[in-house]
Amino acid sequence: MTRRAAALRRLALASGIAAIAVACATNPATGKREFSLMSESQEVALGKESDPQIRQEMGVVDDPQLQGYVDGIARRLASATERPQLPWTFAIVDAPAVNAFAVPGGFVYLTRGILAHLNSEAELAGVLGHEIAHVTARHSAAQYSKQTAGSLGLLLGQIFVPELRPFGQAAEASLGLLFLKFGRDDELQADDLGAAYATTEGWDPRGVASMLETLGRLDDGPDRKGVPNWLSTHPMPADRVARLEERVTALRTQSGGRELAVNRAAYLDRIAGLMFGDNPREGVLRGNAFLHPDLRFRMEFPQGWQVQNTPQQVVAQPQGGGGYVFLQLVQQARGRSLEEVAAADLGQTGLQFIDGGDTRVNGLPAFIGTFRGQLPDQGDVVLRAAWIAHEQKVFRVAGLASPRSAQGVVRAVDATVQSFQPLSRGEADRIRPNVIRLHTAQAGDTWERLATGPGAGVVPARTLAVLNGYAPQEPPRAGDRMKIVVEAR
Ligand SMILES: [Zn+2]
Repeated sequence: MTRRAAALRRLALASGIAAIAVACATNPATGKREFSLMSESQEVALGKESDPQIRQEMGVVDDPQLQGYVDGIARRLASATERPQLPWTFAIVDAPAVNAFAVPGGFVYLTRGILAHLNSEAELAGVLGHEIAHVTARHSAAQYSKQTAGSLGLLLGQIFVPELRPFGQAAEASLGLLFLKFGRDDELQADDLGAAYATTEGWDPRGVASMLETLGRLDDGPDRKGVPNWLSTHPMPADRVARLEERVTALRTQSGGRELAVNRAAYLDRIAGLMFGDNPREGVLRGNAFLHPDLRFRMEFPQGWQVQNTPQQVVAQPQGGGGYVFLQLVQQARGRSLEEVAAADLGQTGLQFIDGGDTRVNGLPAFIGTFRGQLPDQGDVVLRAAWIAHEQKVFRVAGLASPRSAQGVVRAVDATVQSFQPLSRGEADRIRPNVIRLHTAQAGDTWERLATGPGAGVVPARTLAVLNGYAPQEPPRAGDRMKIVVEAR
């Protein structure tokens, strides 16, 4: 069981008792009485337990200035809420997906992908206010409670090989609980509360509406590193922006002619240089090839398989399931020979060695073997795994399947292992991240031209328009300061 799952199960047990005593609690943000299984201290405990795991799983953007800027704004908003006493914590996670999410207890995360898509400080305050509101109004606590009471068993069942520690967890499973979908009412309430918090602290609440407009234009594309895009976790009722506009007008009237900040230029200056898309330091996917410039290797997963790159592992799966192939760095490679490393690595799993031996993969020493045994929640499994030594590190390529689907997975692992090869310095140097740069639009600029200009050509024209808060068919306005995406030099 994962630590989070364990925490939830403990909470489930604890709250089973608490629920009898406190079946109904007053919602701090809305003042309404509602059914709740989670006390404030349980919310905080869950947040504190989840936070280090989220940071580890997703990575945090290494930019203290940007982090400090976001934190400063977020803290002002949190102080304007009904729950300023929570241990509010804000982080920018290193994910290219466009999303923001919150964990009960006051833990709020923005991806660098969403920061790239915002166009002013008022929009940033809007997103932060919205996520803060999900916490203050206990939306996710209520969700966790529902999950705990209802379908936790189902969720636990989906967590891949929870006991097989050496293999970690598939990211989508371990992070799944973060991306519970909110209902329409929760979303509208978070918009309203978020706009109110922003206004109280002096930001123009129209930022909430324009932020929603931009996020509404995003394609609900595939998950990026286990993080789904905003639209798939924050449903967008058709009338949401129009409805919010009335609310925004009311808030602006109430603020009685007070100057409300938008701060577009200041925001753009803060995010100039921000990485856009995949972070090559964690390796990049080019089709089904995985290239890692820092660890200096490349490897190819089977054609047609879905590949996901997370900081802990790369995991590939055939369409329709039937097994997995993983690539991981062996954290503590104990043992003198690769066979000993393999034995230590699989030590606690109890899997039995069937066949295999030492081999070489494109000149690199390797040990490959087939193992069989029982795993908790998985039953009978066949594991095909190779340990490959490269530049003082050991990489594990492994596939796991039921004995029924074993043949296909063994073939897939062997082909994947054979594709593992060192990357030359030149090849490694050519893998660069894309970054945001600022550009002042000239008369006659089009999105097409900006997208294909010198150093650009890394995102489609439509993406550039959306990134800048424009409708895709609207041309750039001459004189506007705007974001373009270029390859870092
Ligand atoms: Zn939301």
